[in-house]
Amino acid sequence: MEKPDVIAEFAVNEILSLVKFRRNPKLQNSESIMLCGYKVRINTLKMQVFKKSRRCSQCGRIGHIFKLEKVSESAAILNLYHIDSAGNEILMTRDHIIPRAIGGPDTLVNSQTMCEPHNHLKDCKVVPRYLNSKLLEIAAIRNIDLGGAHANSL
Ligand SMILES: [Zn+2]
Repeated sequence: MEKPDVIAEFAVNEILSLVKFRRNPKLQNSESIMLCGYKVRINTLKMQVFKKSRRCSQCGRIGHIFKLEKVSESAAILNLYHIDSAGNEILMTRDHIIPRAIGGPDTLVNSQTMCEPHNHLKDCKVVPRYLNSKLLEIAAIRNIDLGGAHANSL
């Protein structure tokens, strides 16, 4: 994978103090700030999840630096990284606890922080120990099957 074009780095609190919890997907995807002359979406679900927790639900790695990475001439995105003791950068991601592929909602409640290596391993599986009672409730209401083949694969 090609290295992204990094414009600047920020301490987590500098960025997370700007993030607002927005339930409305329209606001999540439209509200932006200007950083270093680039338009950056700040209240996305990903950023809200990081504001809730920067810790990978699987291994406990914590994201501790934001990098502003260029995506076009006028736009950039903020990515959160964990840097391990060997200096390797590990991207932190937003994971759907109940995967989208089996009907999990695209909401903050159904989201958790996960490092990229663990998100990759998890793929489209539901792992029962991730689930809390609220999610089980959602699953029951939406008639989402959390058991069977999906639950047994990790
Ligand atoms: Zn992890």
